[in-house]
Amino acid sequence: MKITSAELREKYLKFFEKKGHKIIPSASLVPENDPTVLFTTAGMQPLVPYLLGQKHPDGTRLTSCQKCIRTGDIDDVGDDTHCTYFEMLGNWSLGDYGKKEAIEFSFEFLMKELGVPLERFAVTCFEGDADAPRDTEAAEIWQNLGIKKERIAFLPKEDNWWGPAGKTGPCGPDSEMFYWKNNSEPAPEVFDPKNKNWVEIWNDVFMIYVKNEESKIVDAVQKNIDTGMGLERAVAVLNGKDNVYDTDIFEEIFKKIPAELEQKQKRIIADHSRAINALIADGVEPSNKERGYVLRRLMRRIIAYEFLSKKEFLKDLIVSAVFAEERSKFLKTLENGIAEYNKLEDIDAEKAFYLYQSFGLPFDILKELNPEKTKNLGREEFEELLKRHQELSRTASAGMFKGGLADAGEQATKYHTATHLLLAALRKILGPEVYQRGSNITAERMRFDFNWSEKLSTAQIHDAENFVNDIINIDLPVSFEEMSLDQAKEIGAMGVFEDKYGERVKVYTIADGDNIISREICGGPHVEHTGVLGHFKIQKEESSSAGVRRIKAILE
Ligand code: ATP
Ligand code: MG
Repeated sequence: MKITSAELREKYLKFFEKKGHKIIPSASLVPENDPTVLFTTAGMQPLVPYLLGQKHPDGTRLTSCQKCIRTGDIDDVGDDTHCTYFEMLGNWSLGDYGKKEAIEFSFEFLMKELGVPLERFAVTCFEGDADAPRDTEAAEIWQNLGIKKERIAFLPKEDNWWGPAGKTGPCGPDSEMFYWKNNSEPAPEVFDPKNKNWVEIWNDVFMIYVKNEESKIVDAVQKNIDTGMGLERAVAVLNGKDNVYDTDIFEEIFKKIPAELEQKQKRIIADHSRAINALIADGVEPSNKERGYVLRRLMRRIIAYEFLSKKEFLKDLIVSAVFAEERSKFLKTLENGIAEYNKLEDIDAEKAFYLYQSFGLPFDILKELNPEKTKNLGREEFEELLKRHQELSRTASAGMFKGGLADAGEQATKYHTATHLLLAALRKILGPEVYQRGSNITAERMRFDFNWSEKLSTAQIHDAENFVNDIINIDLPVSFEEMSLDQAKEIGAMGVFEDKYGERVKVYTIADGDNIISREICGGPHVEHTGVLGHFKIQKEESSSAGVRRIKAILE
């Protein structure tokens, strides 16, 4: 091995330290004080306030190795260069040096420190548009350093422009650096960025503009430099490897994954297990929203692979009680889901949605289970369905991981489902003679009346809470069917005493496989799976009238 990942990390930071940069530690994967993003996706992200002009305590030249999560790259994981979790080396000038020094630093580090051969090197620069001129300045700097004209490509905004991150803010052209990874063919004289043998390893962003309130690109008061080099990619190509997995970073991980698995699956398992460990280390726990949902999605995908392999190896890759618990919960539904999958023909978005919502079968594995069966299944359509059907867990849908607080309607819907669970809990704890005598729901709380004449004990209240929370935690599907009232009675659906029903009724069922937790005649609406409810808490238990008790409860 020519260089290890640890050596590269160290070399990079030391090099920039020598050039007057202060080494700063990696920030958490969970951004501090920034609710607009779920994860840290680049080295510059924790530095945004300083790029906007705030003074950094460590000065105007900084360098770091930042851990990153990019959920947007999840579909690319398994290719040679994209991970969901990776480390980004970077150096910054906060109103200090400009384009020339930035490019010269990059060049010196690559050529002198790392010994990158000039014939394997190429760069891109911004081609220019109505907002900003063609970046001939950057190209000239590269040329003066010895890069041939033919190895400099000019590309439009979509490739060679960064920002702003929001509607307004710093932005500017960038210059990307590429390494020719193919060892059996020399790099062509003329650089074609579309040729997949060229791997992007580093990006120098020149934040010299600001997009203002009128959407105009104007000169920035403070001109910054922001660079990012992918540690995994750089280590790979520097060692003559054509993919990030063939590096010391993944060596120990691959030893623990059964060799006979398909290569793509092995790579996904390797990447996701690293991401999962890093997220758990930064305090993220699996859940049905936002960060927790991303973590759950990563976990479930590889648990599904493990299940399909009929081997047990994840416990060696992820040593964590949080993971072990998620695994055992998910394995239960998975078995049923795959049995159902095998029964279905030609799985389209509708069927995929059904498998997802009833069994938690991740979209990602549906295609891999049987490509022929899922040839008509598109992610976009599936996510469209999710969005429509599942506005309740907005973040879980659409693969868009931005948050959004539940609106009043959503919250009330959750309380409707919680009401069914509470009745199930009381019947379990007090006996099957318990039925509902009334309920009242607002967006803030639920109130539930039932036939019982004594005060509940503290233990009974706790048991009821625990029962409901267990069902929430194992995330069971909530399904409904329409049928005649007679049929509903026949299958044992509970009805509300005072309610009058029509000929046809809806029956809502919450079940764990064959074990029916709750089955009630009800108009709805209900959530689609119990996991979205949050935490159930009984606030008060009191008498309502003779022989009727009242419970007030909240979801937090
Ligand atoms: P690509 O176009 O290859 O996805 P990018 O333009 O998204 O890369 P940048 O946002 O410029 O990349 O990030 C800076 C550097 O971080 C890249 O040059 C690359 O080396 C590395 N990098 C980016 N995304 C990933 C990823 N998903 N996995 C590993 N390294 C990455
Ligand atoms: Mg990218």
